[in-house]
Amino acid sequence: MPSIAIDLKSGEVVKSKELIIGIDLGTTNSLVAYIKDGAPVAVKDPQGKSALAPSVIHFRPDGSVLVGEEAKEKLVSDPAHTIYSVKRLMGKSYRDVKAFEHYFGYQIIDEDAERLVKIRVNDRFYTPIELSAEILKTLKARIETALGQPVSKAVITVPAYFNDAQRQATRDAGKLAGLEVLRIVNEPTAASLAYGIGLQPDDNQTIAVYDLGGGTFDISILHIHDGVFEVLSTNGDTFLGGDDFDRAIIDHWLQQHPDWQQQLAQDRNLGQELRLLAETAKKQLSQAEDFSGVLRGVPLRISRTQFEDLIYPLVKRTIEACKNALRDAGLTPTDIQRVVMVGGATRTPLVKQAVAEFFGRPLFDKLNPDEVVALGAAIQADILAGNQRDMLLIDVTPLSLGIETLGGLMDIILPRNSKVPARVGRRYTTSADGQRNLKVAVYQGERDLVQHNRKLGEFILRGIPPMPAGLPQIEIHFILDADGILRVKAKELRSGVEQEVEMRSQYGISEEEMARMLIESVQHAQEDMAARALLEARNEAHTVLLSVERFVKQNASWLSAEEKDRLASLANALRTAAEGADKDLIHQALEALNAYSAPLAHRALDAHVAQSLKGQTVGEQAL
Ligand code: ADP
Ligand code: MG
Repeated sequence: MPSIAIDLKSGEVVKSKELIIGIDLGTTNSLVAYIKDGAPVAVKDPQGKSALAPSVIHFRPDGSVLVGEEAKEKLVSDPAHTIYSVKRLMGKSYRDVKAFEHYFGYQIIDEDAERLVKIRVNDRFYTPIELSAEILKTLKARIETALGQPVSKAVITVPAYFNDAQRQATRDAGKLAGLEVLRIVNEPTAASLAYGIGLQPDDNQTIAVYDLGGGTFDISILHIHDGVFEVLSTNGDTFLGGDDFDRAIIDHWLQQHPDWQQQLAQDRNLGQELRLLAETAKKQLSQAEDFSGVLRGVPLRISRTQFEDLIYPLVKRTIEACKNALRDAGLTPTDIQRVVMVGGATRTPLVKQAVAEFFGRPLFDKLNPDEVVALGAAIQADILAGNQRDMLLIDVTPLSLGIETLGGLMDIILPRNSKVPARVGRRYTTSADGQRNLKVAVYQGERDLVQHNRKLGEFILRGIPPMPAGLPQIEIHFILDADGILRVKAKELRSGVEQEVEMRSQYGISEEEMARMLIESVQHAQEDMAARALLEARNEAHTVLLSVERFVKQNASWLSAEEKDRLASLANALRTAAEGADKDLIHQALEALNAYSAPLAHRALDAHVAQSLKGQTVGEQAL
């Protein structure tokens, strides 16, 4: 709700900007934060104890819902009605989660392997979106109570590796909770914002964000330049986190008390008591050298050194993942300028030590590691609210951008959800001998055929010197700036002929229209695929026919009459098939022609000739 404020310098009444909140929707814990007097703060629970809300949802017998600490207490006493780790299910089908189904203590429905999963509680089915929405509702209510005002807009964070379906599911959960989700932000991006990294418009650096949560480990390598957070690589382990440290302690104690091992099966509470004490021990060992406690009258101890021996293999696995992430980004530890620590489990001294050693530099670990993502989300929200106007915004393209290729196919150059600004290039070639002009038609949309997408504009690249089809190399560049303005550049590399055109990609397209285009692309996927397969077969026939023709012309001197006849008749058969609508027939004719011409090509003395025959089918796409 917009409120009224007075500018003390000028004495004028100013309408203050609307409050947008930042939410970290975590696998283990979730938090909400906002900007208070210029600095981000996480909102504590109504008891004022903790800002962390366990991401646990419990359904009471009467159907009402508990979220957070109270729900967490039901994990052991009533597991069938208590849902945890729902984030692992977001945007997933049953097929996706089958392999780790045993991990969940609740019932996942498998009626249709392809569709998004549902969770059964009593006789009702819930989607992960609905369940996440319960967590979001709780956070929304928490901040509304704390501030005494309604909030309706939010930024929500997700792991950098979340795909489109998972991001969309997160967005939908927000909507269901009564929140307008202004942006989905990557967790590592939010964490670096919390440390002020990337907030200066001229910041230019490469950073590593090491995030060890309750049950997941993520390492992300980001390149930050001009307010853009580019994810260079991500790696990690979806089943490795602080909870495994607890388990290591439990196993250690169970070894000393084999009698408990037997009891565990009958006595659920024992397991829970052990788990709680192990977590307490682990947390204490982040500060102290020793832990001693008592469970059911039995004294239990563990020292920091013992604990570190237990978790050493786990920590080593995270370092291996860091190595892999660097390798994928083409970097070495010395290329990393900042290392940001995220996730409650990074409070563990051995973890800090291993990470600092691996990267060879001090860590960014002064903020609460379990709060940084939410704090960064609040900063991003504040930027969106217009309170930090100098910041460039990180954004993504809502729909794919591409050009028309031979036969009316959509060739995507910049996929939907690409970060902007973006610059991508791709090479094409001509489809006819001596072609002087080339039409570049730019489209926006997800369908396979351009006729179903939205045309943004077209231009003609003129003055290409006459060359055989397939020889010109035309490089098409899409350059999308932060405001969604697309510049398209086409250049013929052999001659240097070039042309550039500017088009607006996002204007004049409403949310509804965008939604419709996305829905249609899914609905028509089947028929689009068939149409695309036919067109591709025809295109291939076209290029092969051209090159065979050229081959015969160039090698007329040594080809026998019989060989020429046979090539001509096979080419004819292919031409006829390509006029029809049966892609299998085209493929058969293609194979027959290829089978016959391949040995001839090999025989051709000139290696270049063989090249031209082969090069046609695997080379650049024709426009
Ligand atoms: P997530 O991102 O998965 O939601 P968090 O970042 O909240 O999770 O991390 C939760 C994990 O951090 C838990 O395993 C918890 O026990 C652990 N943790 C919290 N505080 C400490 C501490 N002081 N020392 C070691 N581990 C801790
Ligand atoms: Mg987290």
